[in-house]
Amino acid sequence: MNRKLIAGNWKMNGLSADLRTVREIAAGLAVSAAAPEALLCVPATLLAQAARQASGTALSLGGQTCHPEEKGAFTGDVSALMLKEAGAGFVIAGHSERRTGHGETDAIVAAQARAAVNAGLTPIICVGETLGERQSGATLKVIEVQLAGSLGALQPATFVLAYEPLWAIGTGKVATPDQIAEVHAFIRQFLEQRFGKPGQSVRILYGGSLNPANAAEILPIANVDGGLIGGASLKAGDFLAIYNTAVALTV
Ligand code: PEP
Repeated sequence: MNRKLIAGNWKMNGLSADLRTVREIAAGLAVSAAAPEALLCVPATLLAQAARQASGTALSLGGQTCHPEEKGAFTGDVSALMLKEAGAGFVIAGHSERRTGHGETDAIVAAQARAAVNAGLTPIICVGETLGERQSGATLKVIEVQLAGSLGALQPATFVLAYEPLWAIGTGKVATPDQIAEVHAFIRQFLEQRFGKPGQSVRILYGGSLNPANAAEILPIANVDGGLIGGASLKAGDFLAIYNTAVALTV
């Protein structure tokens, strides 16, 4: 069984007053080596301060996107190296809000993920279908195309995947256990075909309205190696409740 990763995505939320939440989450984590990993992907502006708050604890910090280039004339963008220097260990790549709102294609996501790995970060590469794609029966094909286009030449030990059906993100609609199991098994099969046995240890997170009430149903599903959590990661109590559900699965 892969070590679970419980990752929060704060999106464009968080001011310095919210560092209290970072402290509360960090203080509430289990400390054993077998415990799930916990991560908060905070806005870039909070990263250095959040990293200081989490210093010496089991909480990791991450960014939410990065530019494919190391540096240069890219006004407003943040490089993977900048995130790393600010205290990140991870960065989300290809979140659907970036793919749809910022035109990030699979090729761009692959370049971002490569930049992340080159900077010493672990990219969390997101894939997922729209409601229309699911309703037309195209889900697995869409996921396959996104995987094939977004992984580039990455080696299996260097990245994490997140399956996030777009229709479940921020909507309160959660994919059913059968839907999650089907897609995660498909992704695992893709990884095994591509990488052989090492494909089994790539972590695959589920994301989409994961919360304290549904975590116990979702986290034990085969090939679900953790969660990517938006709304419920903004409250320490909710994030820790999901985290503790994952802890309970390891004992
Ligand atoms: C996300 O932002 O990746 C996400 C899954 O959001 P939410 O948990 O709010 O649906």
